[in-house]
Amino acid sequence: MQSLSLTNEQLNRIIAHVDAHAPLEACGLLAGRDSRVESVIEVTNQAQSPVRYVMDPIEQLRAFEWIDSQGLDLLGIFHSHPSGPETVSPTDIAEAAYHVVHVILSRMNGAWRARGFWIEDGAYREVTLQIL
Ligand SMILES: [Zn+2]
Repeated sequence: MQSLSLTNEQLNRIIAHVDAHAPLEACGLLAGRDSRVESVIEVTNQAQSPVRYVMDPIEQLRAFEWIDSQGLDLLGIFHSHPSGPETVSPTDIAEAAYHVVHVILSRMNGAWRARGFWIEDGAYREVTLQIL
């Protein structure tokens, strides 16, 4: 996937979610069609950690079932790095289980920034996030 599109409203909702949980990492799923996000699904970070996230497996399963039932695809997984870095971490690369866009929300000097990455075979490249 070369790019992922989401609305400004969806991005603001993601930022509000991760900001509310900082300094702990927060996470969620992005569902949609083609490369256009239609739904933002917040998922509890079971790890309750400032440096890693583990999606609550029951919430994740329910979200996957809902996505299927709506005829949508899982397009992305977002999570925050409240203390940076802006890019994926070695842990993110090691634990990437899905071929979807990984959206990282990083906080630098109090402001959140979103970047998208594709992780495959132990490597990553940036994916353009188009804000509509
Ligand atoms: Zn991470």
